[in-house]
Amino acid sequence: MSGPVLFLEYVTKTLDDVAARIKMDPSVHLILSQPKNEIIVNFPVLMDNGEYQLFKGYRIQHNNLLGPYKGGFRYHPDVRLDEVKALATLMTIKCALVGLPLGGAKGGVKFNPRDYSEAEVKRITRRFIHALGDNIGPSHDIPAPDMGTNALTMVVMMDTYMNTRGQDQRHNVRGVVTGKTVECGGTRGRNAATGNGVGMCVEEWAVGNKLSLHGATFSVQGFGNVGSHAAIALARRGSRLVAVNDHTGTLIVPDGIDPEALQAHVQQTGAIAGFQDLPIRSRDDFFAQPVDVLIPAALENQIDTHEATLISARLVAEGANGPTTPAGEALLLEKGTAFIPDVLANSGGVIVSYYEWVQNKTSESWMEEQVTNELRRIITQAYNEVVAIRANHDCTMRTACYIKALTTIQHAYSQRGIFP
Ligand code: NAD
Repeated sequence: MSGPVLFLEYVTKTLDDVAARIKMDPSVHLILSQPKNEIIVNFPVLMDNGEYQLFKGYRIQHNNLLGPYKGGFRYHPDVRLDEVKALATLMTIKCALVGLPLGGAKGGVKFNPRDYSEAEVKRITRRFIHALGDNIGPSHDIPAPDMGTNALTMVVMMDTYMNTRGQDQRHNVRGVVTGKTVECGGTRGRNAATGNGVGMCVEEWAVGNKLSLHGATFSVQGFGNVGSHAAIALARRGSRLVAVNDHTGTLIVPDGIDPEALQAHVQQTGAIAGFQDLPIRSRDDFFAQPVDVLIPAALENQIDTHEATLISARLVAEGANGPTTPAGEALLLEKGTAFIPDVLANSGGVIVSYYEWVQNKTSESWMEEQVTNELRRIITQAYNEVVAIRANHDCTMRTACYIKALTTIQHAYSQRGIFP
């Protein structure tokens, strides 16, 4: 399998190729070739044993032409500069693609939260946000959950940031992060938003490609926030979850796995292993399981040529960011497999984060139905625009996504000019 440097290389290459294709202004292309800011902080945290440990945190702000920087915080041992730069670039593309007034950023801390106590993770979170200081802010850069972080992490981040402000300002900065719990200023519908968005995209694809989701089979890699909610969304449409893979192995049940029961098991135990005493199968078994729809929802670089050779699926809907390498994608496209690329398929998270930010700004509280309807409106519109661009340009869905996003950015730069 390829490493994280390749991930940045292929995100950059996709951007370069599409910039050439749309004859992007070279100065705009130059700006997008690197993030505007690369912030790295090293900060000490008191461990439960009384000793201090030093942690490395990142915030990469790729572009803020269209609005404040926006993107998640990841807690994972593989977090590193190249990876976060790639993820931040994807956020710029994603926000422009779905038409949000937001730019792109990403960040994280290099550690495995599973190896630390709850109290230690909380102290790491507080110290990280304090170290970033005014590099984030509700009108400047707005983080959200990603791998290894969740709504409670966001609440601790918000609380830390709020406590650095004067009494008069505290409630005005609630929108410094999105993806919070509803009780602490989050929006209804955010927790399931990314997975729900995957489900909506798959539904659009199924209609256009004459696949009945009722009775269709699917598999999911990664059963955290995105994977579990995508599985629940497809199960509600009558599809059958037949294979799941996570960091502990693979479960295969041809008759179907109940995604809500598996989600409850993962929330309790942290992994799919041990669910209903099912036997654990290999990673290759997961990819070799024939399905109508495969949803990678774990990490980048998961589907390379080896996995692509094993896969037999009509559609790959990328819940994760960067799960397919260019060689893996080329092989699957040759086999006739369709793609809904990451920047479109998993955009439900940032779309609903945007609604949370709007509610925080206006002190409103929307009903879940409103959030879901607005998400469906935006994501299906983006999906259908991408399908039209793909037909017009005779290109892949991924290229079509980048054409739409980069054209928007190019127009905004040409109207504003480059300062001074
Ligand atoms: P999460 O931490 O909730 O879950 C991650 C899952 O991946 C877990 O089930 C874990 O077991 C699994 N995993 C980790 N390493 C693995 C490995 N080597 N092999 C197989 N499985 C492995 O994370 P999440 O928030 O669901 O994010 C998953 C992906 O979706 C990431 O690529 C993230 O960038 C992307 N994403 C997340 C959001 C969001 O709203 N959370 C939005 C857009 C995109």
